[in-house]
Amino acid sequence: MKYDVLIIGAGLGGLVCGHILSHAGLRVKVLEQGTQIGGCIQSYRRGRQDYDTGFHYVGGLGEGQSLHNVFGRLGLLSLPWQRMDTDFEHIRIGGRDFHLSQGFDNFVRDLSAEFPHERDGIRRYADLLRNTVDQQFSLLRPQGEAASPFDLFERNAWAYLTETFRDPLLIDVLSGASLKMELRKETLPLFTFCHGNGNYIESSWRLKAGGGQIAQTLAEGIRRQGGEVTCRAAVEELVEKDGRIALVRLDNGEAYEAATVISDLHPASTCALLKRSERMKTAYRHRMARLENTFGMLTVSLLLRPDSLPYFNHNRYVYRRPGVWGFYRPGEPVSGLMISARVPEDGSLHARQVDLLTPVAWEECARWAETTVGHRGEDYAAWKNRKADECIALAEETVPGLHGLIERRYISTPLTYRDYTRTPQGTAYGLRKDAGNALSTLLSVRTPLPNLLLTGQNLMLHGVCGVTMTALFTCAEILGREWMWRYIGGEENKRENFNIY
Ligand SMILES: Cc1cc2nc3c(=O)[nH]c(=O)nc-3n(C[C@H](O)[C@H](O)[C@H](O)COP(=O)(O)OP(=O)(O)OC[C@H]3O[C@@H](n4cnc5c(N)ncnc54)[C@H](O)[C@@H]3O)c2cc1C
Repeated sequence: MKYDVLIIGAGLGGLVCGHILSHAGLRVKVLEQGTQIGGCIQSYRRGRQDYDTGFHYVGGLGEGQSLHNVFGRLGLLSLPWQRMDTDFEHIRIGGRDFHLSQGFDNFVRDLSAEFPHERDGIRRYADLLRNTVDQQFSLLRPQGEAASPFDLFERNAWAYLTETFRDPLLIDVLSGASLKMELRKETLPLFTFCHGNGNYIESSWRLKAGGGQIAQTLAEGIRRQGGEVTCRAAVEELVEKDGRIALVRLDNGEAYEAATVISDLHPASTCALLKRSERMKTAYRHRMARLENTFGMLTVSLLLRPDSLPYFNHNRYVYRRPGVWGFYRPGEPVSGLMISARVPEDGSLHARQVDLLTPVAWEECARWAETTVGHRGEDYAAWKNRKADECIALAEETVPGLHGLIERRYISTPLTYRDYTRTPQGTAYGLRKDAGNALSTLLSVRTPLPNLLLTGQNLMLHGVCGVTMTALFTCAEILGREWMWRYIGGEENKRENFNIY
């Protein structure tokens, strides 16, 4: 059978594309190499508990906000979302505590009370966040109606912050909840910074019973709309003929044909699947292979003794000392982390699970690169246990006595992500975007092959919100902007002659 669209990878990007395209009436198949779908947002089970991997909270789900309509169309609004506290980010820097509030007005009011001398800058910054969030769909508007929000992509976030604020402590506080991106002074674009913070300040939500439900709900929707989602289907080769992808071959020998192929993989991995190509020139492959990745994450997932720790409905961040930008130095003891509590599923007032997250660059774990899960040896176990102990000791600054509450702990590292999702270097947020090199690092969804498109966090934006946005852009290549605009607006769309190449 020939499909309209084959999608490689059932991560969030692949699943959102699959959902939209099958909704549009196209014959879609999603191929996932893993034993389960979701990629970075999959959950895993140990004992009687489910644990989350790359999902803790999402922004912008409130009515009229950035993700509301799209999540509605994807069937995700009916999941058991739980709004976080108004002061949803608690940030401790060098022993001092600060809060960020959700709701732009609350944000300005509460932060200006702490930093009255910076009130004007805070107000301007909040306006910038609001505009970024409001404009993120504007590139999808039918031609010529809106300005591009990507002007901010060429501006450097660190330069903006130091030009706007005089108080370095305020810059630390504003950046303190940014463990959801790589705070690199030299490269981080202002657009990435604003997008990564603005949607959460719009409103912030946890998901009761875990992030895996997002993937499951999307897959159910795809199947209901006539599409297919298949696990244990590792794509091994994209076969090119006459300058197009003619065949998608799996490692088990099966092969599929489709008019269009979408890859949710890292672009370098996508290039590697095209073993022989006339159309994809060596220069493009080299460019993809040379792009740098953001760091990975080490997560310590803690199972706590029942009724030992009151549930907290906010995130906590702890930095040992001021200097949030550049707090992470590979090889040095853990000096900053995020603490997230899982919403109790049984209505208990106590948290049963708490995750501690801290960045880890590939160079810290590269010496085990040739090993696989369960076969990494004692020195790896010793390294990750030492890291976990450092995380727990630092977390005790805001959760006193945490060590004594722990029943079990599980540790994942960039190597874990690399092995389960095949993500190069286990990068947490994909390719590193660079304000100074926007042309090379802001990738197009198009490739040199007309029927091969890209999606996922490596392109424009990362995170649940960013990957969803990026999927809209990928789908717009096939369905057209007018169709996508009506889709986002909740209008009925008819089956059309789409660009399925
Ligand atoms: C520790 C951590 C915490 C995070 N926390 C948050 C958070 O709280 N909120 C938030 O918004 N974002 C968070 N993120 C980011 C978010 O999880 C990611 O941006 C997003 O899930 C990436 O989705 P993706 O589809 O681009 O890629 P992926 O999830 O990597 O999906 C790619 C898929 O392709 C599959 N694949 C690979 N090779 C092949 C092949 N050859 N054939 C078939 N299939 C293949 C993989 O198995 C995978 O399923 C976090 C990330 C990490 C790592």
